[in-house]
Order: sequence, then C-alpha cells, then structure tokens
Amino acid sequence: MPALPIDPDAALKRFLKLAAIDGISGKEREVMTQIITLLTAAGVDELAIRFDDANTRSHIGGEVGNLLVDIPGTLPGPTTLLSAHADTVPVCLGSTPAIDGDVVKSVRESTGLGADDRAGCAAIITAVTELLRSKRPHAPVKLLFFVQEEIGLSGSRHLDASLLGQVDRAFNFDGGRIEKMTTGATGGERLTILLHGTPAHAGVAPQAGASAIVMAARAIDELYRNGWLGLVNKPGLGVGTANVGVISGGDATNVITPLVRLRAEARSHDSAMRSRIVEEIIKAFRSAAAEIKTEAGVAGRAEITTTVDYESFRLADDHPAVVAAEQAIRELGRQPYCDVTNGGLDANWLYRYGIPAVTLGCGQCDIHTTNETLAIPDYLAACRVALRLISPGDE
Ligand SMILES: [Zn+2]
Repeated sequence: MPALPIDPDAALKRFLKLAAIDGISGKEREVMTQIITLLTAAGVDELAIRFDDANTRSHIGGEVGNLLVDIPGTLPGPTTLLSAHADTVPVCLGSTPAIDGDVVKSVRESTGLGADDRAGCAAIITAVTELLRSKRPHAPVKLLFFVQEEIGLSGSRHLDASLLGQVDRAFNFDGGRIEKMTTGATGGERLTILLHGTPAHAGVAPQAGASAIVMAARAIDELYRNGWLGLVNKPGLGVGTANVGVISGGDATNVITPLVRLRAEARSHDSAMRSRIVEEIIKAFRSAAAEIKTEAGVAGRAEITTTVDYESFRLADDHPAVVAAEQAIRELGRQPYCDVTNGGLDANWLYRYGIPAVTLGCGQCDIHTTNETLAIPDYLAACRVALRLISPGDE
C-alpha cells in the first residue's frame, strides 16, 4: 500500500503550538493537556488516555506522570509503540517559536526553542491524526509521552510499565537528524563509598587508630595499578571506563581520620563489563578497609551503595524495529545509519522494561542552547516516518 500523506501545514502548526508552552521537567501538566486535546480532536478515545504515577516516585515530584495512550488495532498485527518526551530544559522557558525560511526558531533570542522534544511529540500526534483520518485499517498502536527526561531520565526510569502491556516494536522520537537511528547506548553506574576507620590522636597514639584516608589511598592505587581506573581495556573481558571523581574526609592534621566519603562511576556499552568494573571497585575498597587495622586489630569497614543510572543496550542491525525504521527513512530518499550514543536515552529504560526501541531524530539542531532550531524538512520527514511505522506498508 502506498504511504499515507500528511498535511504539512497542520503538522507544523502542531509543533508551533506545543513549542510555545513552557514545561520544564516536573512542570509538564500544560503541555500534556494540549497533547490530550490534540489527540482527542484526532479521534482518540479519551478513556484510552491515562497517566502513570512516575511523578510520585521521582526525586523532584512533578505535576504529572508519563502519559500513555492506547489505540486499538482494526487489524491484527504487531503492536507499535511511539514515544517522545514532553519536558524541555530551562533555557527554553519563554520560547516564542516562529518560522524563518526552512527552520523554526524562537524569536526571543534569549531562549531556546524546545524542539527537543516537542518536535517528537508533534510528529507522533501528526502520525496518529493522519492515520485515523485516513480510516486505513491498522494494527494496535500505543503512545508514550515521557515526563522528566531532561533530569536524568526520571520519567522513563519510574515508568509504570505494567500499564503499557504488550509491545512488539518501539520507536522513540528525540533530538537529532532524521537519518540517524540510535540503536544502542552506554550504561552508567554510580557508587557512593563510605570508609569507616578508627579515630585516634595522631601525635599521642596514632597506633590506636585506623586511617580511612590510608584505606582510600590503598584502594585507589590498587585499582589504578591493575588497570581498573580511567580507560579500562581488558582483553577477553571488555572495554569501559571508571573514575573516582569525589573524595572528602578529615578535619584536622592531628586526628587519624575516621571517615572518608568517595563517589565513583563505571560505564560500558556492555552491562556485564560495567558490572565487572563495579565489582573490582567494591573489592578494592573492601580489602583496603580490611587491611588497615588499629594496633588492637580493629579493621576498617567499607559501606558501598551502587545506583544504575541507565542500563546499556544494543539492538542488532537486523532487529525488526531497526529494519522497519530503516525502510521508512529510505522511502523518503534519505540514507539511514545506525549510531550508538555515550549518553542516556529514555530508550535505555524502555530496554530495561523489555521493550527494545530505536531512537529517531526529528530535525532538532543545537538543542539545549539559545541557538536551537528545527529543520522543517526533517521534522516533516519524521512525521512521515512515524506515520509509515504505524500504517501497514507493502512489506
Ligand atoms: Zn531530548
């Protein structure tokens, strides 16, 4: 079946409307309300639109949770999820979007545009609007508008995935070029390490103490000498990075320091390798603490907590979602390519919830700056790609 057409003027209007709304992370209510208005106007059943309670679990709270939308299929077939994030960064507060030739930018020069990621939201809404307007039979479609992406993926991290149900293919629309299909991202893990020693007077009875600073020094030196800090490259195991970035402790030179606090991180595209690096860091601090003792034999203690910032993932080049996205981009005469990013994406968390997603750009340029623009031809291409992905093709 030939590709369904889109109405470019209406598509652009949707973007202008959404970009003009303030809505930094945690303050997404107004933009979500507008998204719901646009979707119900397109014919989406109001009862099929709901929020999860991600905001109640986020460290900043927030006005609303993630917005989930169910569009039942009129044909059997794979369920396709389209997602985008609704929040913007603070530099976009006061955005006044206007068309300038081939691009949209904020006419107020002191603000960013907020195309990251209102362009993603508008592209998805456009695709659904055109699909429903065409009355063409289609397989089930689900939509997901994330909150709080810009503050460390808090919305997707706290997604109530049980509300989402079965998803067979997923496409996340976020910043960047339309040709770029991000099919993998690195994973990051942070450690907080507390080293507990025993205090003593450093001049009168240093032997009665066990220094937490010595424990820290010993552990860090051990990690460094064995190649587990900085760029970690272990043939047969994998590649990653590790860093001890923060260290604090002690108040006086005449005290054997009883407590040192450190913060460290490990990253790798391969989650097994990242876990291994974390394991080595934990081992080094635990054994350094055990080795440093008071004269009476009281050893130190390491108290370590770890947090996964986001899980790494990698989709195979022949994954059905990758193949479908590739085909949709190619149909528009563009040359798709796969990319792996060192940052985190909502797709990292989707993957963790068992939903492998390809992330596609919508033509946003210079995001998070006052120079941010939206390339109109690329945005319209993203609308067409989104529509192609939810309307049956001829494959
Ligand atoms: Zn974004």
